[in-house]
Amino acid sequence: MLPLSGMGFVPKKSACVDSIWGGLLDLLYPPRCQCCQEFSADLICVECAQGFQSVEPPFCEQCGVPFDPAAIVVGVCGECREGRCALGRMRSTFYFRESVRTAIHAFKYRGCRRLFRPLGEMMGGRFPELFGNLQVQCILPVPLHPRRERERGFNQAVLLASVIGETCAIPVMSDVLHRSKFTQPQVGLTKAQRAENMRGAFTVTRGEAVREKRVLLVDDVLTTGSTIAACARILTKAGAAAVYGYTLARDK
Ligand SMILES: [Zn+2]
Ligand SMILES: [Zn+2]
Repeated sequence: MLPLSGMGFVPKKSACVDSIWGGLLDLLYPPRCQCCQEFSADLICVECAQGFQSVEPPFCEQCGVPFDPAAIVVGVCGECREGRCALGRMRSTFYFRESVRTAIHAFKYRGCRRLFRPLGEMMGGRFPELFGNLQVQCILPVPLHPRRERERGFNQAVLLASVIGETCAIPVMSDVLHRSKFTQPQVGLTKAQRAENMRGAFTVTRGEAVREKRVLLVDDVLTTGSTIAACARILTKAGAAAVYGYTLARDK
């Protein structure tokens, strides 16, 4: 059986036999950009990649929430000033809009698993600028509940984290955090309901691995922020020296 995902994309050739198969498959199914569906040797074509909208300053130095460029605000936002942010620093590479949204949907829901590499490389490329001064010691992907991971076949955060770790030479640990509670999507819930929803959602299975460490949590999209905050709180409780967060995109 041919290694097709069933969703119309063709795995890229890797080794010798694979490259023969890959070549034949490329002839039969020429590779396309997963954002615009135009023929392209890359999973994300140059035009679409150029259209990805980066998150740029001004934003809160701590939680990364964008500030109105017209307002002259610097430093941290009100929430962070009141100490309500669970993360020492939160950053995202792009806004979750247009072609970024299309790419992430293709990656997570249309079975184009291979997108983890170009997307992870984009995150790794921005890492020195966003976190270079923090001496991050280990990277932890935000875990999926085992049931959801089985449905999807992979955890997108694990794949993205593996590329960032490789690019930045930082160890990735996927066995420290465990998602013990199956939660429904957080969108549409109030802040209090989200906090309640996330209560007890994660457990730390190897506390000694993060004790006294500066840890970076990685996920694909930041929506309400309650998931990554729940991970940060439990890691802090387990003795992490600092917890930072990094997502490919942010939805606000
Ligand atoms: Zn494209
Ligand atoms: Zn803030």
